[in-house]
Amino acid sequence: SFLIAGIALVSQVSAQDLNPEASVEKHHYQSDIARLRKIVINSLYSHRDVFLRELISNANDALEKLRLTSLTNKDVWDGTPLNITIRTVNGEDGTSGRLVITDNGIGMTPEEMARNLGTLAKSGTAEFLAQAEGSPESTTNGHLIGAFGLGFYSSFLVADQVYVASVPAKTLENPNPQQYTFSSSSDDNDFATYPDPRGKTLERGTEITLVLKPDALEYLEHHTVIELINKHSVFSSSFPIYLFQQR
Ligand code: ADP
Ligand code: MG
Repeated sequence: SFLIAGIALVSQVSAQDLNPEASVEKHHYQSDIARLRKIVINSLYSHRDVFLRELISNANDALEKLRLTSLTNKDVWDGTPLNITIRTVNGEDGTSGRLVITDNGIGMTPEEMARNLGTLAKSGTAEFLAQAEGSPESTTNGHLIGAFGLGFYSSFLVADQVYVASVPAKTLENPNPQQYTFSSSSDDNDFATYPDPRGKTLERGTEITLVLKPDALEYLEHHTVIELINKHSVFSSSFPIYLFQQR
């Protein structure tokens, strides 16, 4: 993959805009997820850099899935370029800084968001939990992190609040899929899904908005982001990664 940095001419969107106006579906995290989130939040602080690798790896998987699906279903992709975009948004007027990771991959329906991000589908995770709870040292010294991907939950290492907006790829049955948002904060065991109050801002794919913790604002620095991408992701992502500063 390659990396291009620049300044995007996109208008400022406040975090408030991502909060629901109506028809919110509330969900409880599965109990294992609640356990996993506790471990992530409490014991992996010194390894929190891994969140970016995990989110880029998910974006890469989503793009790969789209490409593969299109081999048998032409409706899902018209051949336009596939890429990953990372936007840094400095906090203004009391709002927190945000890091926004977007891909134009396969996307998710609201049901898929609830299932994929709110339940423990991964077989390895149960094992991770057992080991991490049995010996917290192996978690904190990083051994377990190498062995098990922490996945999406590593977002909460650096973010107080995470929004996932997504539009699934078009199909014959669903030719005009709508954009939904999944919202979750690091300090409760619920998450919500609802129609994105901004409307359809994505053509297709997934946008992860991390509302950064006040002590994680270093991830707004482009040199830090570039260093992390070069360290963890540059050889594992097969799609270009664009880095922008939102103005
Ligand atoms: P894993 O990648 O090992 O499956 P994660 O916790 O990283 O575990 O992600 C959980 C699931 O959420 C993924 O398997 C995928 O179905 C879904 N997902 C996460 N990020 C994205 C994304 N950017 N686009 C589409 N689906 C995603
Ligand atoms: Mg993953």
